[in-house]
Amino acid sequence: MSGETAQKSIDDKSNVLIELATKIWENPEIAFQEVKACQWTAEVLEKEGFEVEKGYAGVPTSLRAVWGSGKPVIGFLGEYDALANLSQKVSTVKDPVVDGAHGHGCGHNLMTPACVGAAIGLKKEMEEKKLEGTIVFYGCPAEEVLTGKAFMARGGAFRELDIAFSWHAGTNNTLNLGVMAALNSAKFHFKGTTAHAGAYPFNGRSALDAAELMNVGANFLREHVPDITRIHYAFTEVHGAPNVVPDRASVWYYIRALSRDTVVDVYERLIKVARGAAMMTETEVEVEFMGGCYNTMQNETLVNVIKEAMEELPEIEWSEEDMKFAEALNKDNPDYDRMVAAGLIEKGVHLDNSAPSIRRTDAFGSNDVSEVQYICPTAFLTTPCANNAAVFHQWPTTACAGHSIGMKGMLQGAKAMAVTALKAVENPEIITKAKEEFDKATNGKKYICPIPDDVPIPQ
Ligand SMILES: [Zn+2]
Repeated sequence: MSGETAQKSIDDKSNVLIELATKIWENPEIAFQEVKACQWTAEVLEKEGFEVEKGYAGVPTSLRAVWGSGKPVIGFLGEYDALANLSQKVSTVKDPVVDGAHGHGCGHNLMTPACVGAAIGLKKEMEEKKLEGTIVFYGCPAEEVLTGKAFMARGGAFRELDIAFSWHAGTNNTLNLGVMAALNSAKFHFKGTTAHAGAYPFNGRSALDAAELMNVGANFLREHVPDITRIHYAFTEVHGAPNVVPDRASVWYYIRALSRDTVVDVYERLIKVARGAAMMTETEVEVEFMGGCYNTMQNETLVNVIKEAMEELPEIEWSEEDMKFAEALNKDNPDYDRMVAAGLIEKGVHLDNSAPSIRRTDAFGSNDVSEVQYICPTAFLTTPCANNAAVFHQWPTTACAGHSIGMKGMLQGAKAMAVTALKAVENPEIITKAKEEFDKATNGKKYICPIPDDVPIPQ
């Protein structure tokens, strides 16, 4: 059967893939700092016969690894960045490795090994069958700040691809055709004048007042934007003490919406709110655009082929210990009963290994796989890598991403992508159909990177 060699070679390399996932998990690096993860991934792929270029497309911690020649060109999109403050041991109780340190609370330590596994498995079977085609693995930094792939795309990445695949750790075997939100990220820096807050307040111009008034304006703006919008902010800097009028204040905004056009529109209106706040307080405002991404656009043709491939795979075999670990985490989850009552999870299941399903659920989270989805037909999937009540960006996910639960889900994801890609290589009509769908959806519009050329890549 097609795909058997690919699956077997992923199993044969499981030690290498698990070792890579474990090393990245043990050394969590946040956005644009993924130096070690990039290096270790490069070493594995070089050993496997891929030609590797680090610092690809002008992004220091990105990577491109290529094997093969000619068409089709198949891309795999690995990620490896961690999250702040999510350090956690492989334990069912909250117990950070280092309190306040970074951790893999979104399972991105598994994403690169899954894509590396898919690339290795596909290569092996293509070699065996002497199939023509090119495999490109991309190490993509900074997914958590949703700008890594846009910076790579700005540098020319992904244009070479016919189709691409991405996989994310999840709580079940899911393919979602719903939309994830587009985003703009920007900091608003207000500058005022200090003064003695008690004796001479009339001499001061408060940057903090300006930032607060901007937030008031933004909160009123919410009423007059489309329902598919989200606006959220955090103060990142305030100078001073109560007895000194603050001359510096910065506030960081995310605008999300289910369409990129809405994000751009609301962002322009938010800039007016910021300027209004500066005018009211006689301060100045500087807008620092940090980056952005498109809303996701799954390729349904590829999603259907992934589902077929997932159905052909043997189920993940959970051990007794895996089940106990997941059950303990579920017991500890205060929302467990609510999630059961809402029909989000099945009571007593703990590790959801059910057959892959296709959903159509829009979500206000974002995923920068969107950038590639507007360049070529691209699809992403999830497999179970955590207890079924896990909520990502929390410590139980960090625990599962370092546990055999995460590793097993990762290997399953690698196999699903390899088998799907193989089907596309062996049946060119799949790629033709995926491209027709893509052309229809984009209607001839070329991808325009949401990050202008003058925005520097964060160091
Ligand atoms: Zn993630």
